[in-house]
Amino acid sequence: MANSAAVMSMYDEPMWESIRAHDWHLQQCDDCAEWRYPPGPCCPHCLSPRSTWRPLSGRGEIASWVVFHRQYFDNWPPPYNVVAVKLAEGPLVISNLTGPEPEGSWIGRPVAVAYGTDAAGTLIPQMRLAE
Ligand SMILES: [Zn+2]
Repeated sequence: MANSAAVMSMYDEPMWESIRAHDWHLQQCDDCAEWRYPPGPCCPHCLSPRSTWRPLSGRGEIASWVVFHRQYFDNWPPPYNVVAVKLAEGPLVISNLTGPEPEGSWIGRPVAVAYGTDAAGTLIPQMRLAE
């Protein structure tokens, strides 16, 4: 069975370094100010190669969610949830909701970044319900 360990490129390493420091950063375009995710060599909005790594607010809201009951990865035993979160800065990221789960619909619920680990002990950015 596979695992979901991150595959590092030269563009991913600064992001994972900031996650390890519990201060998640993403690239922000120096020309149009759009935030870039996943990390990459140029802005997907204006194609500028110029960017600066900046800290995220750590806030967002759930755009979609699912609970997996089948095992796909060694380091993710079921059941576990996966959430798509629209960050306050704009990018859509895939994560997990940790802590209490909302009653009813999860869509639109505000969340905040909460750093946690997967079953293999790898530090990852997760989400927790926020007020
Ligand atoms: Zn741009």
